[in-house]
Amino acid sequence: MVRLGHYVGGCHVEGDVTQSALVDPATGQITGHVALGGAREIDAAVSAARAALPGWAATPPLRRAAIMFRFRDLVEKHADELASLITREHGKVHADARGSLQRGLEVVEFACGIPHLLKGEFSENVGAGVDSFSLRQPVGVCAGITPFNFPAMVPMWMFPIALACGNTFILKPSEKVPSCSMRLAELLSEAGLPPGVFNIVNGAKEAVDAILAHPGVDAISFVGSTPIAEYVYQTGSHAGKRVQALGGAKNHLVVMPDADIDMTVDALMGAAYGSAGERCMAISVAVAVGAAADPLAEKLAAKVRALKVGPGTDPASEMGPLVTRAHRDKVSSLIDSGEAEGAKLLVDGRGLTVPGYEDGAFLGGTLFDHVSPQMRIYREEIFGPVLCVVRAPDFEAALELVNAHEYGNGAAIFTRDGDAARAFVNRVRIGMTGVNIAIPVPMAFFSFGGWKRSLFGDHNVHGMDGVRFYTRVKTITARWPTGIRAGADFSMPTMR
Ligand code: NAD
Repeated sequence: MVRLGHYVGGCHVEGDVTQSALVDPATGQITGHVALGGAREIDAAVSAARAALPGWAATPPLRRAAIMFRFRDLVEKHADELASLITREHGKVHADARGSLQRGLEVVEFACGIPHLLKGEFSENVGAGVDSFSLRQPVGVCAGITPFNFPAMVPMWMFPIALACGNTFILKPSEKVPSCSMRLAELLSEAGLPPGVFNIVNGAKEAVDAILAHPGVDAISFVGSTPIAEYVYQTGSHAGKRVQALGGAKNHLVVMPDADIDMTVDALMGAAYGSAGERCMAISVAVAVGAAADPLAEKLAAKVRALKVGPGTDPASEMGPLVTRAHRDKVSSLIDSGEAEGAKLLVDGRGLTVPGYEDGAFLGGTLFDHVSPQMRIYREEIFGPVLCVVRAPDFEAALELVNAHEYGNGAAIFTRDGDAARAFVNRVRIGMTGVNIAIPVPMAFFSFGGWKRSLFGDHNVHGMDGVRFYTRVKTITARWPTGIRAGADFSMPTMR
């Protein structure tokens, strides 16, 4: 049985009595308990992070990068162990867990280049004998609040860049999947990170509210559902903190009549059912344009019926369970609503049992056709293995659908027509767009973020936006005395 407390000042700290059970979603068995911290634990972590800040901020970026290099090697060395922790608490299949860890590792690799990334600007002679330069300094104590669906990758979107920029950090992982983060904290210490630079407070709403209220927290990165993202953004901003808050999604894939249907179906299978649809970039709507609809629906249905659903530890499984039975039941009830509202249920994943795993949170792949924009299954984020096919008469109608949706995280177009692809890229109101790529997740050296109600705040995560979020710009204008004394000047200074 695992018993997790917190990680503060470079040490494991016992939690008090309030705790939450950790459940293996494949077996339904309790595997341990995690402490649920609140204001007292956040205050202790802020004290540790504030105490460590001056020394860490003054550490040359090259030395901070050296620790990131060592951390990178340690994560790689322990990749299988970390992926197993992800599978045990989240349920996704091992290869998928490994892949998500790799995407997090790429952010660490990006952060290893921090001496270059922090270079400022310099202008000589902006006025007579006056030089001007700008530099980037750490924001201070930063906090990260993360969702259940990427136990390693989403925290790793945040802390490697925050730390490399010279900030100290407090992570509040999802209470459903805390073990991987705790192991990453140990590996950071092993890599040579000084105590207090990276801390973890486990918990749920109470811990988040304590972060939002604490005057010692300077910046907050949040990833999770839209209602909580909006709450964190509004409350944190009101308290004078810098906040970026990434929310939910409803990602569309537009299938043009000229698309290669077999290739599109394969791409949709991975994008809709990989990780049981519990990805913020999962495709949950296929917009079939004109004649693409019938062959698409037919070929998809055959593949969805053949999906291999089983525990994430079985290499033969293509899709694992959902994160909890409560979440599985919520997704099932959305399927009920789709049926009741008149969508055509081509494949029904409800009621699936996996032999030997009868208590697991399993749901089979589900496919709807003839879904209309008024239906709940179209409007709401389902976050499960449910794909909705919406039929559109032409490109303009398909584009209008994508643009009218409240979410704006990802979208893709599958076509052989460069003109249609170019028009889509140009006119779509979506943060991350794919052309014949179903899940266009930007690499670590680009930035990740959606538009509309998928992101609150001005900065995306990782890439140069990560560096901008975790630093403040300071601009210096300097003159060295020349011996000339012109006396006081009371008019607005200009350099002319
Ligand atoms: P969630 O919003 O329930 O939880 C996210 C975090 O907020 C967790 O750490 C949780 O403890 C905390 N939290 C939950 N309820 C809270 C409350 N009332 N007050 C304060 N804090 C609270 O999200 P989740 O279910 O863990 O994750 C799934 C969601 O995350 C989906 O909506 C998904 O689209 C989204 N997501 C978005 C991205 C992105 O990049 N946009 C990436 C991954 C996940």
